[in-house]
Amino acid sequence: MLRVTEIFHSIQGESTHAGRPCTFVRLTGCPMRCTWCDSEYTFTGGDHFTNEQIMQKVRDFGCRLVEVTGGEPLAQREAFELIRQLCDEEYEVLIETGGYVSTTNVDERAKIILDVKCPASGEADRNDWSNLECLRADQDEVKFVIAGASDWEFAKKTIAQYELETRAKAILISPAWGLVDLQDLARWITESGLNVRMQLQLHKYIWGPDVRGV
Ligand code: SF4
Repeated sequence: MLRVTEIFHSIQGESTHAGRPCTFVRLTGCPMRCTWCDSEYTFTGGDHFTNEQIMQKVRDFGCRLVEVTGGEPLAQREAFELIRQLCDEEYEVLIETGGYVSTTNVDERAKIILDVKCPASGEADRNDWSNLECLRADQDEVKFVIAGASDWEFAKKTIAQYELETRAKAILISPAWGLVDLQDLARWITESGLNVRMQLQLHKYIWGPDVRGV
């Protein structure tokens, strides 16, 4: 059984897949407590579903792109089997993970979107750095949520240290909602000369920052 907060069909708001229709399976629970977390409602509660019940809900939406997210989706052991089942049914599967749990055992057909925690999150010490070495340049993406100038400096250092420009399909630079001036962030990025992608969370602009299930 998996503990599930919500399953819904919407527009993908982040990554290079932004703008595409996508079914989201949002699993309950997260071992981290990022200061700017926008999904604290996933920390507790949720309903228990079998993998087959989840698969049936996914099939009912009739969408070939599926994201397994959370909370921290990899914190529940059964999630690895769900991901394998989704891949077996030839869904295009995205895994949005906070970088605390090892991605080693994720089905290799799934695309990883790995969130590297920066200092302002309060959780930078819990990054599993070995996850960065497992990224595949043809399909995996890495994301830094930036809440200020020191986070940006940390991101730049990490990008260089782990050679992420060649190791990942895309490096996503995402402003922490309401915490960093968007024009400042755009300027830091352009001045850096780095091959990164600034991303805004599309769903928050469409439906507002606090609306769930979108
Ligand atoms: S890892 Fe994600 S869900 Fe967990 S506290 Fe951080 S932002 Fe929230």
